[in-house]
Amino acid sequence: MARRTRVAIVGAGISGVSTAAMLKHSGFDFTVFEQSAGPGGTWWDNTYPGCETDGRSLLYSFTFMPYDWSGTHAPQAELQQYTEDIIDHFGMRDRFRFSAKVDEAIWDEAHDRYRVRLAGGEAHEFEALVSALGILNVPKHPDWPGLDEFEGITFHSARWNHDVDLAGKSVAFVGTGSSGAQVVPKLAETAGHLYVYQRQPGWVLPKGERLFSPEEREELRHASALQRRWRRYKAYRLQKKLVVGTSNVSLALHKQVQDMALKFIEDEIEDPEIRKAVTPDYPLGCKRIVLASTFYRTLNHENVTLVPHAVERVTKDGIVSADGAERKVDVLITGTGFHPTRFLRTLDVKGCGGRSIHDFWNDDPRAFVGMTVPGFPNFFMCYGPNTNGGPGIMFMAEQQAKAIVRILRRLERRRGKAIDTRPAALDRYIRWIDAANRKHMSARFTGCTNYDFAPGGRAVLLWPRSGAYYGAMTRILPPLGMTVRR
Ligand SMILES: Cc1cc2nc3c(=O)[nH]c(=O)nc-3n(C[C@H](O)[C@H](O)[C@H](O)COP(=O)(O)OP(=O)(O)OC[C@H]3O[C@@H](n4cnc5c(N)ncnc54)[C@H](O)[C@@H]3O)c2cc1C
Repeated sequence: MARRTRVAIVGAGISGVSTAAMLKHSGFDFTVFEQSAGPGGTWWDNTYPGCETDGRSLLYSFTFMPYDWSGTHAPQAELQQYTEDIIDHFGMRDRFRFSAKVDEAIWDEAHDRYRVRLAGGEAHEFEALVSALGILNVPKHPDWPGLDEFEGITFHSARWNHDVDLAGKSVAFVGTGSSGAQVVPKLAETAGHLYVYQRQPGWVLPKGERLFSPEEREELRHASALQRRWRRYKAYRLQKKLVVGTSNVSLALHKQVQDMALKFIEDEIEDPEIRKAVTPDYPLGCKRIVLASTFYRTLNHENVTLVPHAVERVTKDGIVSADGAERKVDVLITGTGFHPTRFLRTLDVKGCGGRSIHDFWNDDPRAFVGMTVPGFPNFFMCYGPNTNGGPGIMFMAEQQAKAIVRILRRLERRRGKAIDTRPAALDRYIRWIDAANRKHMSARFTGCTNYDFAPGGRAVLLWPRSGAYYGAMTRILPPLGMTVRR
């Protein structure tokens, strides 16, 4: 059947690329707009030394595109290449427009289509719009007093400045989250002296990374679909144990994993003061667990100083921490994270009546099955509110891409012009999500602060159930909660 729906996808990270692959497979006409000069999203932007997945590469792959990963945890360059290879495998490079930032998309009610406007003014029309902007795309820059007057070099870990030669320099890295734990061991190899600023320690567990042997790679290349499924399942079970996170796990498992983390500190760090400084005073799982095998042992190095205090201010040639001490540095690198709960931060979508999605949300991002919003017809989100969980982002992204294709096919089958979400369906869904999340976050985590919560107070990132449950919901709920207008 000839397709009538033209689709604009904004973003060419793994979500945008997988949606493009599914649309291509189903014969839809689409264009992907990506602000960067190439695909990969997270894996295009984050090029800091040591950047790789903390999840297992077997899980960090689409079921429709198995890959010849070099090891248990894929490095950034391989992940970026994966997105290039998907584009070529599906023969869709001509559908991608790079260095093309979309500023806004406005629903034209008279003609049932979105007017998509790029930075620079160029505009195009599409019947449907998919946002695949990710949630860790806009770096969070600190606002420390004095930062503007700093005369050394400064940059964010997510926009690494490869022109700076760090050899022999006095370098400060601020942040000990997932990026910090990956980059610090690499920085310690080159910097003259490295100061690691830690506002609050995270719970750290070894990642268990290793390269696959040639035999393993050969075996994986020739594995049947069933064998691959079984391997993914085993990798999922292993990962689940390590990311006890906010899930409602048994007390015994929680204690077992927390004891493992405490023993890791004991085994790896020589100085009792440093051991104390890196031991969190909140239960494991309260915040995202950091998976890093070599971070702790790097703190033993002579040229590395852990500063277990927040940064208070910056001087023209140094950093003053909360304990009042000033340390002189040549280079200040901020590993201060992103804005995960600010969905669609770089894009304004205006729906029926010209209403902006940001006004609709009012700091409380909500979406039906994490994908659609009432009053915004033919608009879909990948990695939207409450879709962070299950067996990982790749599985969830694949479910979302398939759901978008199913919904668009339904729209075409019914010869409809627009498909929209019923407000009552969204309300019921959000009530369910909130209740499930409350149950999912066990009582022992009450009072935890972490990046799951939006300014409105709700946990807007977490998906509270299994991946299979999400997959089933993306099949069952849209036909019930969305109506087609002819
Ligand atoms: C350092 C780091 C490590 C991570 N490690 C893991 C991990 O191990 N496991 C895991 O599951 N997750 C990990 N994540 C999360 C990661 O973001 C997701 O796994 C995944 O890459 C998200 O893909 P995405 O396509 O949804 O979003 P992104 O990869 O963020 O892609 C979004 C794309 O949209 C583009 N874009 C944004 N706004 C516009 C606009 N207005 N116009 C045009 N283009 C736009 C961006 O340039 C970007 O290319 C990590 C994140 C970071 C930052």
